[in-house]
Amino acid sequence: MKQSEKTAWIEKLPLLQEIIEKQEVLWRNPLNGDSAKGIEQSGITVDDVKDASDRLKRFAPYIAKVFPETAEANGIIESPITAIPKIKEELTTTYNMDILGELLLKQDNALPISGSIKARGGIYEVLKHAETLALENGLITKEDDYARFAEPEFRNLFAKHKIAVGSTGNLGLSIGIMSAQLGFNVTVHMSADAKQWKKDLLREKGVTVVEYADDYSKAVEEGRRQAEADPLCHFVDDENSLDLFLGYAVAGERVAVQLKERGTQVDENNPLFVYLPCGVGGGPGGVAFGLKLQFGDNVHCFFAEPTHSPCMTIGMMTGLHDKVSVADFGLDIQTAADGLAVGTASGFVGKVMEPLLEGCYTIADETMFKLLTMIADTEDIRLEPSALAGMTGPIQAIRNEVPKADMPSATHLVWATGGSMVPENEMDIYYGIGKGVDRK
Ligand SMILES: *Cc1c(COP(=O)(O)O)cnc(C)c1O
Repeated sequence: MKQSEKTAWIEKLPLLQEIIEKQEVLWRNPLNGDSAKGIEQSGITVDDVKDASDRLKRFAPYIAKVFPETAEANGIIESPITAIPKIKEELTTTYNMDILGELLLKQDNALPISGSIKARGGIYEVLKHAETLALENGLITKEDDYARFAEPEFRNLFAKHKIAVGSTGNLGLSIGIMSAQLGFNVTVHMSADAKQWKKDLLREKGVTVVEYADDYSKAVEEGRRQAEADPLCHFVDDENSLDLFLGYAVAGERVAVQLKERGTQVDENNPLFVYLPCGVGGGPGGVAFGLKLQFGDNVHCFFAEPTHSPCMTIGMMTGLHDKVSVADFGLDIQTAADGLAVGTASGFVGKVMEPLLEGCYTIADETMFKLLTMIADTEDIRLEPSALAGMTGPIQAIRNEVPKADMPSATHLVWATGGSMVPENEMDIYYGIGKGVDRK
């Protein structure tokens, strides 16, 4: 971007100056409107999400069989919603601000199989691909018991097929673990900065890990190029995949049931606020879309991003979406928040969210670490840094006078996106960093 263009944008959108200075800001989306209309505009329907939900139900007997940790939930990969009153009290003191509504945590850190929000979209996309191949090859019908996917003839079929993905972390774990379990030939393309324990874990499961000296986008590009040259290879495209998005969107109906079960009302007088950590956008976008299908105008969704990589914030503010990078505004994409270190957001997701998103806000790494330690101390819940990005949501919404955010009858749902796969010694290091951050 030319300097003159940049100056013009800052003149038009003064908040950009604060973003360039890496301050923690909240942006309210002026295009947020009628939910039903926004959903219609997207071209994605209730039936599309129901189709994804039904597919996950068909696969549930298989999942329960090969991942015993899901047997109790009958093979449905889901996480609990937990009330977190103790950290709410601590936040009230730290930020000197009342959160009048109830504070809840959606614990995707505890999702089975791969321990992050990626277990929704990533696993779904692999299962869908496996089903398509099995149907095409006459191995199964949709009415059969899908536990049969564990049988040798299925594995023999999948062994002739490849799955590839470019990822620094959690998406690679989800795609790698699920694909290897089914018997696919799976390759995860990783950038130089990917954590060693993730590479080790994947290799242990039989996944091919290709390492690149360059950054993440190079790894993705190279992975895509290799996959495109091979007709038997399915490339999971984090930036453009509708299947990933639909897998995430199934969360909406699950949350609706969970809130109902715990007696949490959502309507005009009882608004639901949801705070979702955002990287490229598929995860939070899909979940927000699913929630909009359930609750319409009564759910208010915010995306949370690191101050060093607010790609969705800048993409949506300017309307440039994937045609702009945070680097255009001098930001360096350096953050400890795995999964959120993204320079350019998905254009597909940005467009879908345009009429549906309440806004975006940013959070410093320091704040994420402080909150990581705080939730460990108060609630005994261990999360990875990214997963804390949602935690300042209620503070930001109330401080910036977002309508209804200060209602005592409001519910604030913080989406904790990952944590349980992080080795204990790594987690201890995170905890120590947060201890060292000035508590004020
Ligand atoms: C991937 C990821 C996100 C964000 O999801 P996107 O689809 O990249 O926006 C948030 N938190 C964690 C822990 C993740 O791994």
